[in-house]
Amino acid sequence: MTKLLREGPCVYLSGGVGGAKLALGLSSVLDPSSLMIVANTGDDFEHLGLTICPDIDTLAYTLGGVANTDQGWGREDETDSFMSALADLGGETWFFLGDRDLATHIERSVRLASGETLTSITAGLCSRLGVRCQILPMSDDPVRTLVNTSSGLLEFQHYFVRDRCEPRVLGFRFMGAEQAEPNAHVLRALSDSTLRCVIIGPSNPYISIDPILALPGLMEALKDIKAPIIAVSPIISGRAIKGPTAKMMRELGLSVSVQQIVKHYEGLIDGIVVDTSDVSALDIIDKDSIEVRSMRTLMSNLEDRAELARSVLKFADYLSYKCTGALSVQE
Ligand code: GDP
Repeated sequence: MTKLLREGPCVYLSGGVGGAKLALGLSSVLDPSSLMIVANTGDDFEHLGLTICPDIDTLAYTLGGVANTDQGWGREDETDSFMSALADLGGETWFFLGDRDLATHIERSVRLASGETLTSITAGLCSRLGVRCQILPMSDDPVRTLVNTSSGLLEFQHYFVRDRCEPRVLGFRFMGAEQAEPNAHVLRALSDSTLRCVIIGPSNPYISIDPILALPGLMEALKDIKAPIIAVSPIISGRAIKGPTAKMMRELGLSVSVQQIVKHYEGLIDGIVVDTSDVSALDIIDKDSIEVRSMRTLMSNLEDRAELARSVLKFADYLSYKCTGALSVQE
């Protein structure tokens, strides 16, 4: 097994389901104190009087070992008493909230109303779930993704869950992003001279990663760092594993390919990880500006997640070795 010699914090940018898979892998191979997960909060919304943060919760439940792995969202061993009682009352039932999951949203909403920050509330949730690495909201200020569609401008969860991603996508808007302050802990980690790497998870670039990158100063902070920035492609063999990424790309007039993912992150990333099935695509990527590694990126079980995490970290350490000449990885 590869021994990872390099220490120092690793910052991981993530959405929900796809991002959480690699987050779990990273958490299984890194010391918890050196993993900082930055969660997209553009998917957050207010519903039934509660503030719901789907990506934070997917990450926290996954790393806390209580996620419903079949669904990819929500908690395991859920019951639906609340939803069925709500249906009996004629309430809104298009967004499923299991009884246990509901407790998270109630507790978070109560604490937000009392003035506590989302960062602090998330730390509390993680601690209760036994998650030892940091999961941070990208900002404590609200940012809400709006989807411009053939059916008009839709709130993200209306597009995603209520309308099952059916309307044709024309573009996105991240409401509140211009005024939002990036999480101070994240900015501090990015300016840490011991920063090991930044990894962009195999999340949807348009709705999970772009809201993070849209925060004022975040892109500049990323461009300033000396540590390598690596993205893992969410597209394998011209398809998305789950969710609307491929459909969105087609509707936006983009090719569903790893080259398009590279193009999307052009000028930001130093390296891209693509699946072995996409090796033929590598010839088309300009390897002067970016390093490419192909490996198995389909994560079906915990060992896949850990193996991909190890390989991505090894790639990051190779890139920093290339830049600085410092020895970082040993077989
Ligand atoms: P969301 O916020 O819940 O939509 O989840 P993310 O944006 O974090 O992840 C969605 C993306 O994860 C999709 O584009 C999938 O293709 C990608 N994805 C899911 N599972 C895997 C996997 O095992 N490997 C890779 N490479 N991508 C995956």
